[in-house]
Amino acid sequence: MRIIILGPPGSGKGTQSKFITEKYGIPQISIGNVLRKLIKLDCKLSKKLKLIINSGKLVDDDIIIKIFEKRIKKKDCSKGFLLDGFPRNIMQLKNMLNAKIYIDYVLVLSISDKTIIKRISYRQIHIPSGRVYNLKYNPPKCEGKDDITGEKLSIRKDDVKEVFYKRLLEFNKHTLPLIKHLNKNKNIYNIKYFTIDGNQSIKDINYKISNIFNEN
Ligand code: AMP
Repeated sequence: MRIIILGPPGSGKGTQSKFITEKYGIPQISIGNVLRKLIKLDCKLSKKLKLIINSGKLVDDDIIIKIFEKRIKKKDCSKGFLLDGFPRNIMQLKNMLNAKIYIDYVLVLSISDKTIIKRISYRQIHIPSGRVYNLKYNPPKCEGKDDITGEKLSIRKDDVKEVFYKRLLEFNKHTLPLIKHLNKNKNIYNIKYFTIDGNQSIKDINYKISNIFNEN
């Protein structure tokens, strides 16, 4: 199973990715999570990345593609993978296909701006694992702590409103054209393409996604 999950920031990609990867035993590849871990290291690259990410912009394709190619070669990807937040534009997709990395399913979470803003205001993450919580809709068992490790949760610096709006603009400019491109060319790429209403509850979306994989 080789899956891409796409949607605007705050649409629930990370939450659904955890559910899918646990259920189907495939690794989640989130370049955003890799980048957040890199930022914690104190080096020239981490400073550059921090500036870009905290401004809401996309990181340069050449950096992202190198990170992706290194990750996808690892043994755990041999039976499939779920790509969360990659590719983010048509250039990254084409690079991936040129490297003969093919995809079976594309899942697109579509969601209203109103729901996104509500969700983002309450989001907390566990940086080492990438687990995502929401104080209102999916709270941790113990306030401010990760359910599995008990480690401290963080608020993403790029979730503050001003930066978040920039991320939405970046999504509209770069990722929406990718989504349209994938839908238009799904037969050529031999992918199964599905749009899911991301405004629903986490459980309802889990259920819809399970049905998609059961029936297709
Ligand atoms: P995410 O965790 O997927 O929301 O990503 C957080 C940030 O990391 C994004 O706003 C970008 O700055 C950067 N990023 C993650 N994935 C990519 C990508 N495929 N291409 C470019 N930048 C990315």
